Amino acid sequence: MGWRYSDTHELSFVDCRVPKENLLGERGGGLRAFLRVLDCGRIGVAALSVGLARACLEESVKYARERVQFGEPIGKKQGVSFKCADMFMEIELARLATYKAAWMADQGKRYTTDASIAKLFASETAMRAASAAVQIHGGYGYIEDYPVCRYFRDAKILEIGEGTSEIQRLVITRHLGL
Ligand SMILES: Cc1cc2nc3c(=O)[nH]c(=O)nc-3n(C[C@H](O)[C@H](O)[C@H](O)COP(=O)(O)OP(=O)(O)OC[C@H]3O[C@@H](n4cnc5c(N)ncnc54)[C@H](O)[C@@H]3O)c2cc1C
Repeated sequence: MGWRYSDTHELSFVDCRVPKENLLGERGGGLRAFLRVLDCGRIGVAALSVGLARACLEESVKYARERVQFGEPIGKKQGVSFKCADMFMEIELARLATYKAAWMADQGKRYTTDASIAKLFASETAMRAASAAVQIHGGYGYIEDYPVCRYFRDAKILEIGEGTSEIQRLVITRHLGL
């Protein structure tokens, strides 16, 4: 659907033997190492999401100023401008959550829950922003002439990769002791 620059294939390892000197980390420690990488990667996906959402807002504001319908730019209509206001607010919050998680990681503190909160909120913000951006562009949002079409296709994977939204909610509920 999106992320067309990401060359994704299945990898298959049948009877694959790896010489000892080629081992990365300790034997049997793969899952632990992988999970550690995931925590950090979630901050990365949160940052990607903030960037995508911001691009949606910028394109939407630009278009809302240019596109005239019923005698005035569509940005003068609250049905359009309120969508931009919501995008702006959510992006600010997603950015703060992302910075907080990155700061916790830099300080050497435990940041598993913060990374999940940032990834979950930012990726869902990106999806909402992409949907709103396409809506604001009307039919032009659905064709490739405007970049929001690609943003919409690219946004969905942010809610799936590095742990789906449901998995982030599981991490957060674990933090709550539920
Ligand atoms: C192009 C592309 C690039 C990707 N790049 C990356 C990457 O760089 N890093 C990365 O980590 N992932 C990446 N992914 C995502 C990864 O490959 C998996 O798709 C993702 O981890 C989800 O696993 P799954 O597809 O097996 O879904 P499944 O685990 O089969 O889940 C299917 C559905 O069931 C839900 N579900 C599963 N278990 C539970 C549960 N216990 N409780 C509640 N709901 C549950 C899921 O949330 C989801 O909605 C990429 C995917 C694609 C398509």
